[in-house]
Amino acid sequence: MRVTTSLLGAGLVLTAAAIHAQQPGPVDHPAVTVKGQIYTPASILARNMGSAEDQETPFAPHTIIGNIYYVGTRTLSSFLVVTPAGGILIDSTYERNVKGIQKSVEQLGFKFSDIKILLGNHAHADHQEGDALVKQMTGAQVMAMAEDVPALQAMTPGGRMHPIDRILHDGDTVTLGGVTLVAHLTAGHTRGATTWTTKVEEGGRTYDVVFFCSLRAGGTVTPAMAAELDHAFAVVRKLPCDVPLGDHPAQYNMRAKYARLAAGNPNPFIDRGNCLAEADIQEAMYRAVVDEQQKAGRLP
Ligand SMILES: [Zn+2]
Repeated sequence: MRVTTSLLGAGLVLTAAAIHAQQPGPVDHPAVTVKGQIYTPASILARNMGSAEDQETPFAPHTIIGNIYYVGTRTLSSFLVVTPAGGILIDSTYERNVKGIQKSVEQLGFKFSDIKILLGNHAHADHQEGDALVKQMTGAQVMAMAEDVPALQAMTPGGRMHPIDRILHDGDTVTLGGVTLVAHLTAGHTRGATTWTTKVEEGGRTYDVVFFCSLRAGGTVTPAMAAELDHAFAVVRKLPCDVPLGDHPAQYNMRAKYARLAAGNPNPFIDRGNCLAEADIQEAMYRAVVDEQQKAGRLP
């Protein structure tokens, strides 16, 4: 089975290479196989982002576990953590999606204006471009990892400054209404990419929830990025985790889990066995990219 899969992978790579030989353009490599599935940089990007319509169409808002809700689009995650003192929103996504997020929050029976804190996954527009608008609509305190501040400050939709009310550092906690989230610096994808963790109660049990950040290496891995990613993978592999979430829903197989939830199964988002599924894919890709670079005589 394994042999068949890797032969198939080699075939696909050859085909892609043959196409690129005829049509100059960006080459989609390397290809890595993780749990029998082949991934390339382009396939990961396509899986994460989907179509333009996917990026903008709200996915059915739903309870993930306890006080944690999904309010994002089909391919861009936005999470709402509800506390007695108001809400914490993780990721505003694109500014054009903020109205949809508001609608999803209201559909769940909450008030958008009750959002008191806005957090981010990492300083890319598909996750945090809407921060200024959310701040304008809710008055929420916007908190950002120090290392991502320069990139956020460069994000000025409609010429508006990116709001930052509190600068966070690795290990800092954010508390509201008795709920605490911990910020873990897991950089590499951006300099301040942040994995958030919290604990949640459901059915008399406590679960560790991990909002993983993107761990995807950029095109060329610089020595600085390599040091950050090595650290990030070591960090995420040690986090206690019962409920893995991600900045793109495909990273935690949201669609399939939501379908199982709707069918009345035990909470499918409790998925310890897949806590590191996305890290495994991204680390394999990262190592393969570095390997390619080294073979080409480039650092690191
Ligand atoms: Zn990104």
